[in-house]
Amino acid sequence: MLQIGKAVVSLDVIQKEFCCDIVKCKGACCVAGDSGAPVTTEEAQLIELLYPQFEGYLSDENKEEIVRQGFSVIDSDGDLVTPIVGNNECVYTFVDERGITKCAIERAYLEKKTTFRKPVSCHLFPIRITSYKRFDAVNYQQLDICQPGRICGKSQALPLYKYLQEPLIRAYGPEWYDELTYAAENLTEDQLR
Ligand code: SF4
Repeated sequence: MLQIGKAVVSLDVIQKEFCCDIVKCKGACCVAGDSGAPVTTEEAQLIELLYPQFEGYLSDENKEEIVRQGFSVIDSDGDLVTPIVGNNECVYTFVDERGITKCAIERAYLEKKTTFRKPVSCHLFPIRITSYKRFDAVNYQQLDICQPGRICGKSQALPLYKYLQEPLIRAYGPEWYDELTYAAENLTEDQLR
């Protein structure tokens, strides 16, 4: 583990290789699990505010589910998350012509209709941040659905923390990320044990 500021970062984040291969995995992380994506209160409010910019990408079923459940819900663990629908996919998703599940919030961002890309928890996946009173645990959640991402990362020799530079900076800022990079490039034998 490495501690940078309040974040305790697992060595997997530094040492494992990763790069999403969405053509192969079909965007499975937007569907997997029995709960939606964690969102902050501010993100939930932003999603509601920006809804008119991305609702056009959503199916009628998803739109009806948003009317029924609201823009965010509390899950069984007590966390604020996006609602899910159908086969457990996030309610803010759509399936494109290649059968890939994609994020409507991100689609609107990529089409320059908004400046909010998507919730930071989605942007960071498969890194998961769990916040405790005194520290954050920053871990790599290794799921079977991400096997194409592991193969792609290995072929490019791309460490997970480098692949997810942008969302890590979003979460902790550029100086924190520079410290992480320095620590990753100068791991001691003790840290590697
Ligand atoms: S995080 Fe995993 S499931 Fe999601 S797009 Fe990347 S490889 Fe696919």
